[in-house]
Amino acid sequence: SSARIAGLGTTIFAEMSALAARTGSINLGQGFPDTDGPDEVVDRAVDALRSGRNQYAPGTGVPELRAAIAAHQQRLYGLAVDPGEEVAVTTGATEAIAAALLGLVDPGDEVVVLEPYYDSYVAVIQMAGAVRRPVTLRAPDFRLPLDELRAAVTPRTTAILLNSPHNPTGTVLRRDELEAVAALAVEHDLVVISDEVYEHLTFDGLPHIPIATLPGMAERTLTISSGGKTFSFTGWKVGWATGPATLVRAMLGAKQFLTYTSGSPLQPAIAHALGADDAFFDDLTARMQAQRDLLCEGLAELGLDVFVPEGTYFATTDIRPLGFDDGLEFCRMLPERAGVVAIPHQVFHDSEAGRPLVRWAFCKRPEVIADALERLQALRR
Ligand code: PMP
Ligand code: GLN
Repeated sequence: SSARIAGLGTTIFAEMSALAARTGSINLGQGFPDTDGPDEVVDRAVDALRSGRNQYAPGTGVPELRAAIAAHQQRLYGLAVDPGEEVAVTTGATEAIAAALLGLVDPGDEVVVLEPYYDSYVAVIQMAGAVRRPVTLRAPDFRLPLDELRAAVTPRTTAILLNSPHNPTGTVLRRDELEAVAALAVEHDLVVISDEVYEHLTFDGLPHIPIATLPGMAERTLTISSGGKTFSFTGWKVGWATGPATLVRAMLGAKQFLTYTSGSPLQPAIAHALGADDAFFDDLTARMQAQRDLLCEGLAELGLDVFVPEGTYFATTDIRPLGFDDGLEFCRMLPERAGVVAIPHQVFHDSEAGRPLVRWAFCKRPEVIADALERLQALRR
């Protein structure tokens, strides 16, 4: 195999989901909901399949989805993007991230990335021949350390890869944090690639603020999201990028030779879904917040140190109060011991900061979370 993928190994999500299947464990590892999204959205996909929309979509995506994405950005955030030139549909946010890095970053460039980082970031930065410069969000509150952020930017930096709401810590970046990122980006003329797949999953009334809405940022930000988390169709892999035509074109320059175009019949269905009213998004947030609280309270009762997340599908704990200190060992032991799967933060870190931290997904029905908590009582025995 090539140097491009050297050391990347197998993604932790594949390892842990396979372990869950093999041991019959409850999978609080990989972040996918255990309840599908709305039937009416499925019906739209079936209609598309049945009405002959089964050949290649345009490279940028089907027009009604691009229009729906543009309308969503306008309605929720007041961001004006032209569906013709400033929106592109991708195969999940994953492809958008990969194509953005391949299309925007040169070998040897440095990319600032929040640590812990979503695992595909590191892999794609490496495949692009670029160098990651992690800035660590640390327990207990996982805020963005602004001095360290500034120190991470060097003359070789060309991009900041941002993620808010942040996987795995659950941090939702505040306006002052985003302003600090924006100031740096403007000062050093950097591109910001902003992964906002959890944009509709912020809790306790915290707003999601796209960094593209800050002064001077719309022209240098490629905003990435997908329908997976928002509409509970993670397996559909319908994602997108929005931003200035120059950045979207660069992303498409790579995407056209990765997948050419993305799956046609699911696109009109996600276009329909994006038209959901506020009640739909409020209901999603309320359900997920209730599940967060159920899981976090249960994990705290078990004796773990729990860091209650502000957003996403995930809660983080420190396992040391239970006498463990290595999250990877803990997660490899947990299925046998308790019949539950979780994800170690360690694999999302260069530094040691993630060693005692473990991530638990709460995008599961309350009864499943309750069952998992019951099983985890085995840790006390
Ligand atoms: N970014 C983050 C932060 C994620 O957690 C995920 C996981 N879904 C993705 C990107 C990938 O999104 P998609 O499934 O749309 O490719
Ligand atoms: N984004 C989800 C997570 O973080 C799923 C990741 C994946 O399977 N690649 O768990």
